[in-house]
Amino acid sequence: MLSENPFATEGNWYRGNLHTHTTSSDGVKTPAAMAEHYHQNGYDFLCLTDHNKVTDIAGLSSDDFLVIPGTELDVQRKEQGYHVVAVNVPTVPTSLPGTEVSAALAAIREMGGEAIVAHPYDLTINDLLPVEGYLGIEIFNTSVHHAFGRGYATLHWDALLSRGKRVWGFATDDAHWHFNDHRPNDACGGWIMVKAPSLTLPNILDSIRRGLFYASNGPEIKDITITDETVTVRTSDCKSITFVGQNWGTSEKFTALGSRLLSSAEYKRRGTEEYLRVECVTKEGQCAWSNPIWFTQRGDKDVL
Ligand SMILES: [Zn+2]
Repeated sequence: MLSENPFATEGNWYRGNLHTHTTSSDGVKTPAAMAEHYHQNGYDFLCLTDHNKVTDIAGLSSDDFLVIPGTELDVQRKEQGYHVVAVNVPTVPTSLPGTEVSAALAAIREMGGEAIVAHPYDLTINDLLPVEGYLGIEIFNTSVHHAFGRGYATLHWDALLSRGKRVWGFATDDAHWHFNDHRPNDACGGWIMVKAPSLTLPNILDSIRRGLFYASNGPEIKDITITDETVTVRTSDCKSITFVGQNWGTSEKFTALGSRLLSSAEYKRRGTEEYLRVECVTKEGQCAWSNPIWFTQRGDKDVL
C-alpha cells in the first residue's frame, strides 16, 4: 500500500471547511461572525477564502478553533478560467489574479500554501489534466450545489484518478451566507474530517497534504481496514457503499435492499486495483467519500 490510511493513523479527528467568504468580498457575514458560526456548529477549523484577497484573521483563532488564512483566485489557462482555493497563503502575489494557472499554483506553493481546484463541474478532464501543482479538487461544493445543482464532481475525480493523477477529494461550503425561500443556507453543508495529532496549523496542513482525511456532506466513515485480501469499511447508516477503482473490474457497489440499511461492507481484492476509494450514500442521498488508497506505483510521476 503506497498511500496512508487515516483510519490506521494515530491522532484525533478534526472537522473543517476550507472555502469560506465574508464581508471582505461577496459574503454576508463578517470574518468574526463566520468563524463564530462554524465554531458553534462543531467545526474545529475554517479557512477564509475571499476573492482575490487574503482576509485578516488576527484574533479569530482560539485554543479549540483554528482559522487559516487563504484566498480564492481567478486564474487562466488558454481560454479557460479556473477558480483556485489557496489554503494557508499570507498574501495574494501581486501578479495575480488572471495569471496562467500553473504559475499561480506554483506561487501558492512557494508561499507555503496548497491549491484546490474549486467547483470543477464546469471544467472538463482536458482542462484539469494538463494543470500541475494542485493538491485536489472540490468533489462537493455546498453553495454551487444549492444555487445551481452543479456541486458534485466525482466524475472529474474518477477521470483524474484513473489516469494516474493523485489528487485528493475535498467537500467544502464556498459559504457566502446566501440563501432564499427555495435555497438552503450554504454554510455547514460540506466538510472534511482530518486525522491529526493536534489542532495546530502545521499538523492540520501536514495531514491534508498527506490525504489523511475524508470528505462528507452527511454520513460518517467510522473505519477502513485494509489487508492483503480485503478492504472493509464501517459507516453510519447508509443505503449504499461503493468501492471505486480505476474500472468496472475493480469497483463494486453494495446496496441495502428493502428497508434495512448498511453500516459496513467488505471488498475482496482482485489484485489488480491501482487504487480504491470508498463512497457511502445515505437513504436521503448524503455522501461521504474516502480518499483513494493507492496500491500501485502508477501515478507516482504525478505525485503533486
Ligand atoms: Zn468561493
